[in-house]
Amino acid sequence: MTLTTESHSLMKEIDQVDSMVKWLASFGQSDSGGVNRLLYSPSWVQAQHALENKMKSYGFITHFDSVGNLFGKLQGSTPNTKTILTGSHIDSVLNGGIYDGVYGIIASLLAVKKLHETYGTPKKSIEVVSLCEEEGSRFPLTFWGSGNITGKYTLEDIEGIKDTDGVLFSEAMKNAGFDPVQYSSPQRNDIDCFIELHVEQGIVLEKKGSSIGTVSHIVGQRRYTVTITGESNHAGTTPMPYRKDALATAGHFISYISEKAIQTDPQLVATVGKINASPNVPNVIAGEAQFTLDVRHFKEDVLDEFCDHLANYFKQVAQKREMEITIDQWMNVQAVKMDPSLTELSKLAATEKNITFEPLISGAGHDAQVFGTFCPTSLLFVPSEKGISHSPKESTKKEDLEKGIELLTELLYRLAY
Ligand SMILES: [Zn+2]
Repeated sequence: MTLTTESHSLMKEIDQVDSMVKWLASFGQSDSGGVNRLLYSPSWVQAQHALENKMKSYGFITHFDSVGNLFGKLQGSTPNTKTILTGSHIDSVLNGGIYDGVYGIIASLLAVKKLHETYGTPKKSIEVVSLCEEEGSRFPLTFWGSGNITGKYTLEDIEGIKDTDGVLFSEAMKNAGFDPVQYSSPQRNDIDCFIELHVEQGIVLEKKGSSIGTVSHIVGQRRYTVTITGESNHAGTTPMPYRKDALATAGHFISYISEKAIQTDPQLVATVGKINASPNVPNVIAGEAQFTLDVRHFKEDVLDEFCDHLANYFKQVAQKREMEITIDQWMNVQAVKMDPSLTELSKLAATEKNITFEPLISGAGHDAQVFGTFCPTSLLFVPSEKGISHSPKESTKKEDLEKGIELLTELLYRLAY
């Protein structure tokens, strides 16, 4: 059997994506096949410079901004037009997967390269961006890359922040070649739109058998620590009606949270992932119990209503049981809507290209949520095998990687040419 020219070139492209992802994974490769590429670490520096060289070899005009975001530009022919920005983040979590973030950068590179080779100079400029940081895995701060481009962060935001080895954020930045003394705001005011292609990090696309997820919203998140104070006492001599059992009350609240979440909305998720009891001894009634609560939904009013309801319910029950309760909120991330016309354009392009797609809501945070309140933004997903991410086991089928690039290429063509 002979391959047709078209399917032969498609095979070549599929292999190219795969080999490019593996090439970038070689910078910071972990023993278990994952990747360690924390912000401003040696492997991060190597990866960014290798990418810059790759961009140059494709004929892009490259530059780093003062925090280490890397840009590769294909200059458009129309003067005074804004730039179409596409890409994702280069940093990883500890022993993370090789596709998270990286796939979006590689896909953008290959899409823009192909457009350049096929159609020449675009009308509007297109820039591929390798964002310096998204994960918050080295320093307790997330979205340092997109946050600087959109003007949400300045140097003041990293003052005094250290990593677990006690290295100052500013010191790490300097050692990587980005001296805070030379900081000039990386904020851009010439971005027309931002398009991010990313792995789903969930199992929906695989279950639905679709190659692409067209994301309409990125969820808002609320996180709390709930502390219940009852009375520590003897497990044998204290009759049930006379107890102030903090752990039993926490148990009641935790099952209530799940039941109420299911009743409220199919898209609402609520998680108690951590619990502590004190004194945490088998034969002593717990005098104190503490648990975390993580709630996510794409509508602010649904989140507010659900969280208010829980707080009221917890207080009522605690009062009835003569216990103290404190509910401490330590995270409040607003839900962000992606640009509806870009989402529609993605769906249209996918339909015309015969690429299967599924409208989705992102339950995880992405750079697209930072850009989403700054400029028209689109977020597209390709499937994650078994839904696994932030793990060396993270994987996406070659065919799906290629479909993502095919769609991104089409979308950029429609926007820039
Ligand atoms: Zn990511």
